[in-house]
Amino acid sequence: MRVLIIGAGLQGITTAFYLLQGGAEVQVVDRAASAAQETSFANGGLITPSQADPWNSPGILQRMIHYLGQEHAPFLLRPGAIPGMALWGLSFLMASRRTPHRLATAASVRLAAYSARLLRELREQHDLQYDQLTTGTLKTFRDTSEFIEAQRMAQLMLEKGGVTYELWNPETAVAEVPALFGIRQQLKGAIFYPRDESGDAHLFTQQLASLLQQRGAALLFKTTVQRIAARGNAITGVHTSQGTLVADRYILAAGSYSPLLARGLHMRIPVYPVKGYSVTLPQGDWQEVPTIPLVDSSAKVVLTPMGKRLRIAGTAEFAGYDLTLNTRRARHVLEAALSFCPSLRPHIHEDQLEYWTGLRPMTPDGPPILGPTPYHNLYLNTGHGPLGWTMACGSAKLVADMLLDRVPEVDMAGLLLSRYRSVIGLS
Ligand SMILES: Cc1cc2nc3c(=O)[nH]c(=O)nc-3n(C[C@H](O)[C@H](O)[C@H](O)COP(=O)(O)OP(=O)(O)OC[C@H]3O[C@@H](n4cnc5c(N)ncnc54)[C@H](O)[C@@H]3O)c2cc1C
Repeated sequence: MRVLIIGAGLQGITTAFYLLQGGAEVQVVDRAASAAQETSFANGGLITPSQADPWNSPGILQRMIHYLGQEHAPFLLRPGAIPGMALWGLSFLMASRRTPHRLATAASVRLAAYSARLLRELREQHDLQYDQLTTGTLKTFRDTSEFIEAQRMAQLMLEKGGVTYELWNPETAVAEVPALFGIRQQLKGAIFYPRDESGDAHLFTQQLASLLQQRGAALLFKTTVQRIAARGNAITGVHTSQGTLVADRYILAAGSYSPLLARGLHMRIPVYPVKGYSVTLPQGDWQEVPTIPLVDSSAKVVLTPMGKRLRIAGTAEFAGYDLTLNTRRARHVLEAALSFCPSLRPHIHEDQLEYWTGLRPMTPDGPPILGPTPYHNLYLNTGHGPLGWTMACGSAKLVADMLLDRVPEVDMAGLLLSRYRSVIGLS
C-alpha cells in the first residue's frame, strides 16, 4: 500500500516510521529543505505526560481577561486575531467546563503515557541520541492555591495514565536543584515526576528521517502542497509545486497548516495556531545547571538542559499565523526563567542567545485529532498543541494502526475528528 504523508515535522516523520515498519510504501512531502524546520524545530524539549491537562482548565476566561492588554502576559490575545478564531474560541471556552476538561485530560494523559513508552522503545531499538534526559521533571510552585490544584491534577494523572509523582517541600527542591536557591523563600512546594523525560525534538526527528531514508522511504523536501484533490469521498491526488503525487492513502500532518489544506476539501479541522517562543543558550560555566528539567507554574516557562545547552520556552499568543519574532516577548521568556533561576543571569551572553518562535497547532479541547476523516483514504495526525513532542510516537503508532486496519492499542475516545460534530457542527 502506498501512503503519502503531508508534513515532515514530529508527527509526519514518526507516522512514516510506524507505517514503514508495518509494511507500507511511504512518501513524505514537505515544503522545507529538511525535517522538523517549523514547530518541531526548537520547542521546550519536554516529554511530559505529567502536563497532559489541556490549558483551558476551568476559569480560563477570567485568566485571559486578566491578562488582556498586558504585553508580557503568558497568555496574550491580539485583538486582530479575534475575528478569525471566534468559533474556535467559543469551543475552547466550552471545553473548559469541568466535565469536558476532565474527559479531555483523561484522553490526553492516556495518549501521552503510551507515547512515552513507545519513545523509550524506539530509542533503545535504534540507539537514537538526541540530548535526551531521563531524570524526570520538577514543577515548582510559588502560589499555594496553584500548588493545591496541581496536586489534585497529579492524582488524576496517576489514576488515568499511571503518571507517578512525589511531593517535595521547598527544602528538598532546593537541595535537589540548587538553581532554585534564589527563590527558596518564595517556594511553596514542588512536584517531581520521575518518569518524565526531555530531549531535542529537532535532533530526534532528523535522525528518524535519516533512518527512514536508509530503509527506503521517499522524503520529498522543498515541495509545497498547493491543493488536495478529491472525487466523491476519495482523495485522488496531491498537487504540489513539483507536480501531482498519487497514493492509496494520505495523511495530513501539516501542523498548524492542516486546516488550511483541508479547507479545499470543505472539511473544517478545528486547529488554531498559538504562538510561542524559545531561547537556546550555552550552559557555559553556570555551576547550578539543573540535572532535572524545570517547569515553573508562576512564570509559565520551562527550562530544559539539552546537552551542553539550555532551552527555555513558553508564552502563548493568539495572533493568527503571524510568525514575526517579537524580541521583547522572546526576551520576556528568558526573564521569566531568571525569575526562578536567578543565578543564571551572570552567565548570559547576549550574542549567544538564539531566539525562536513557532506555532502550536491547538485544538479547542486539547487532545490532538487522529485517524479517519469523511474521506475514506484520508487520515489526520494533527492538533497536538503544546504536547506534540510528548505525544508524537503514540499518535503516530495509533494513526498507522488505524490506516493499516489494525486495532489501536489505546482507547480512541476523545482523539477522533468525529468528537467535534456535537460541539461545532462539523459537517
Ligand atoms: C514554544 C513552544 C514550546 C513547545 N514545547 C513543547 C514541549 O516542551 N513538549 C512538547 O511535547 N511539545 C512542545 N511544543 C509543541 C510541539 O513542538 C508541537 O506540538 C509539534 O512540534 C507539532 O508537530 P507537527 O509535526 O504537528 O507540526 P510541524 O513541526 O509544524 O510540522 C508540520 C510540517 O508541515 C509542513 N507543511 C505545512 N504546510 C505545508 C504545505 N502546504 N506543503 C508542504 N509542507 C507543509 C511544514 O513545513 C512542517 O514541516 C512546543 C511548541 C512551541 C511553539
